[in-house]
Amino acid sequence: MRGFDYQRAHDVSGALALLDADPEARFLGGGTNLVDLMKAGVERPVRLVDVRELPLAQVELPQGGGLRIGATVTNSDLAAHPEVRRRYPALAQAVLAGASGQLRNMATVGGNLLQRTRCAYFTDVTKACNKRIPGSGCPAIEGEHRNHAILGASGHCVAVHPSDMGVALTAFDAVVSYQTADGPGELPFSDFYVPVGDSPHRETALPPGALITGVTLPPAPVAAHSRYRKVRERASYAFAIGSIAAALDVHDGVVGDVRLAFGAVASRPWRAREAERLLTGAPADAESFAAAADAELAAAKPLPHNAYKVDLIRNLVVAVLTELTEEAVR
Ligand code: SF4
Repeated sequence: MRGFDYQRAHDVSGALALLDADPEARFLGGGTNLVDLMKAGVERPVRLVDVRELPLAQVELPQGGGLRIGATVTNSDLAAHPEVRRRYPALAQAVLAGASGQLRNMATVGGNLLQRTRCAYFTDVTKACNKRIPGSGCPAIEGEHRNHAILGASGHCVAVHPSDMGVALTAFDAVVSYQTADGPGELPFSDFYVPVGDSPHRETALPPGALITGVTLPPAPVAAHSRYRKVRERASYAFAIGSIAAALDVHDGVVGDVRLAFGAVASRPWRAREAERLLTGAPADAESFAAAADAELAAAKPLPHNAYKVDLIRNLVVAVLTELTEEAVR
């Protein structure tokens, strides 16, 4: 591992100043992804600015509903918060589906949003990878891509975003807050991750040097009736090969408000807006759920070894929405 300086920031302006002093510096949260990438030689910062002591570790309850989650709230604290579990159960379930207890104790909300793909070519510095070295190629397209994208990919990169938490945040219209030396800013989650296009090394719309300070969830009564379901290759601890965050209101057998997002299918958590549009006002039955899933997945372009994800996501949509419907009419 390349040698690096380590400095601990105690307030936001101090953290920004420490980063600004060195363009090759990185903010350090829990380090559960960044430090692994440093060991592998993928990330080679000359300085780490530790932000874990910043006063951003609170889950706040704004008047009028919703949540404001500080960037340094740990995954464990977020999943255990009673109002997260009550107002946004799919978010708590998504966080608990990720990693192990030890990792969740360290990992932070801000860091979770910035974690990198687990594509094996990306983490192997002996291999070409457009995300790591722009223009070097994408060996996954002709190589190992069982766990790669079926939606929104490009001929330059077919990697998926690994976050479970991000799938629930996408479904609930989260807004990311950040701070730069020029002042504060916000990004709706739908704009936070940029499309892959021909520049997969550029992953978010954050300005250079920005520090994520928190995530706000707007009030969403439907979110109280929500679920996160993750499919992975081993039950104990693994990244998703497909996942879904869903929330559903049913009145007299008809779908009211509905939220759907998919994980492990694209370079970012995938909001299923076409499926939501078709479902709103439709009968709350398996036929409608399957038709909505098919409409959303019509845009899928699977590779030879990951076509299974189309059926997997379709089955998840039908199963989870059916469960939520049965609970709604009890
Ligand atoms: Fe790199 Fe993306 Fe291709 Fe993986 S899928 S090898 S991350 S360019």
